Amino acid sequence: MKNGICIKCNSSHVYVKEYELGTITLNGNRIANESYVCTDCGYFETYITDRDALGKIIARAEKLGDWKKASNHH
Ligand SMILES: [Zn+2]
Repeated sequence: MKNGICIKCNSSHVYVKEYELGTITLNGNRIANESYVCTDCGYFETYITDRDALGKIIARAEKLGDWKKASNHH
């Protein structure tokens, strides 16, 4: 989606907007994010764009365990 092509329908009608599809918080703080939307099929993706916040998620997974590493193994 970030390259302007929809990964679902291959359309080039992809638009991006910051903070459009919701508020994401970490430790009570709002985190910068942006959403990509395909105006042909409606598919959307949201990315956290705050690299510092992404690092904090790793730290929380290790120390608190409220976030967990995604895995195929359970
Ligand atoms: Zn699409």
